[in-house]
Amino acid sequence: MGMTAQRIDGKAIAAAESVILAEKVAQLTQQHGVTPTLAFILVGDHAASQIYVRNKAKQAIAVGMDGVTIPLPGDISQAALMAEVARLNADPLVDGILVQLPLPDHLDSGAVIAAIDPMKDVDGLHPLSVGLLLQQQPRYVSCTPMGCMKLIRSVRPQLAGLNAVVIGRSVMVGRPMALLLLNADCTVTIAHSKSQNLPAIAASADILVAAVGRAEMVRGDWIKPGAVVIDVGINRLVDEQGKARIVGDVAFDEAALLAEAITPVPGGVGPMTIAMLLHNTYLAACYRRNLTSAL
Ligand code: NDP
Repeated sequence: MGMTAQRIDGKAIAAAESVILAEKVAQLTQQHGVTPTLAFILVGDHAASQIYVRNKAKQAIAVGMDGVTIPLPGDISQAALMAEVARLNADPLVDGILVQLPLPDHLDSGAVIAAIDPMKDVDGLHPLSVGLLLQQQPRYVSCTPMGCMKLIRSVRPQLAGLNAVVIGRSVMVGRPMALLLLNADCTVTIAHSKSQNLPAIAASADILVAAVGRAEMVRGDWIKPGAVVIDVGINRLVDEQGKARIVGDVAFDEAALLAEAITPVPGGVGPMTIAMLLHNTYLAACYRRNLTSAL
C-alpha cells in the first residue's frame, strides 16, 4: 500500500462558499432592498433536468435569493422559446437566466443562449461571456470549471508554471477549464477523443482535469506522483451484481495511491457547480445595479 491522496471535499468547500454568499445576499437585501433573482427555463420533462433545476432553485432560496422556474412544453417552438427569453431579459426583477440543457432536438440551443441578455448570462455560456474569458476579462465564467478552479486552488494556491492537462474540450467544461488554467499561468494541454497516447499526456500533468463522461477511464498509472486530480465526470456504472453506482472519469482508488489530492465522485466537483451559479447570480444582481461596492 502506497501513499493515499488527500480527498478534496467539494461538498464542504461548497457549503462554506454558501455561508459566505448568504451573508453577502443578506447585506444586499438589507442595504439596497435587492433580492437576487434567478429564472430557470425548463423545457419538456427530461427527468434529470427536472432534478437539477429543483436543486438549483432550492439552493438559491437557501442563500436568500429567489429562484423562479418557468416550465415550458417539450414541443415548444423556437420562436416561442425565444419570446420567453426576451420576456425574462426585459423583466427588471430577473437578474440571472439559466436555460437548462439539453433542449429537445428540434430546438437550437446556441441561438437560445445567444439571445440571453449578456448581463443575465449567469451560466457563462453566452458568446460574450466566453469571449471575455478568452480575453482575460472574465465576467461570468461557466460554473463547473470555475468550481474546479476553486477546488484546485484549495490545495495549490500557486499555479504559475505548472503543467495542466484537461481531458475533454466541450464548450461548457473542457474549453473554459483550459482557459482558466491558462489565465492562471499554467502550461496547458487540451486532450480529446482524437488525442494520441493519452496516458503519456496525462502523466505530464501536475494538475489533471478529466471531463470526458467515460467511467473510470483514467487509470492509476496515468497519474504523475504528487499531481492534483479533478474528476468532473458523472457516470452510471453497473457492477457484476447488477447494482448501479455513480463513478467519475478517474479510477479513484488507483489514482489516490499516486495523487497528492483528488476529488471524489460524488461529493467533489458536483456541489461546487451550483455554488458557482449562485455566485454568478450575486455578481449579476450587483453589476446590473452598478453596486460595485457590494462585490
Ligand atoms: P461532452 O460529451 O460535451 O464532452 C466530452 C469530451 O470528452 C469531448 O471533448 C470528447 O472529445 C472527450 N472524449 C470522449 N471520449 C474520449 C476518449 N476516449 N478519450 C479522450 N477524450 C474523450 O461532455 P461534458 O464536457 O459536458 O461533460 C463531461 C463529463 O462531465 C460528463 O460525464 C458529464 O456528466 C460531467 N459533468 C459534470 C458536471 C458536474 O457538475 N459535476 C457538470 C457538467 C458535466 P471530442 O471533442 O473529440 O468528441
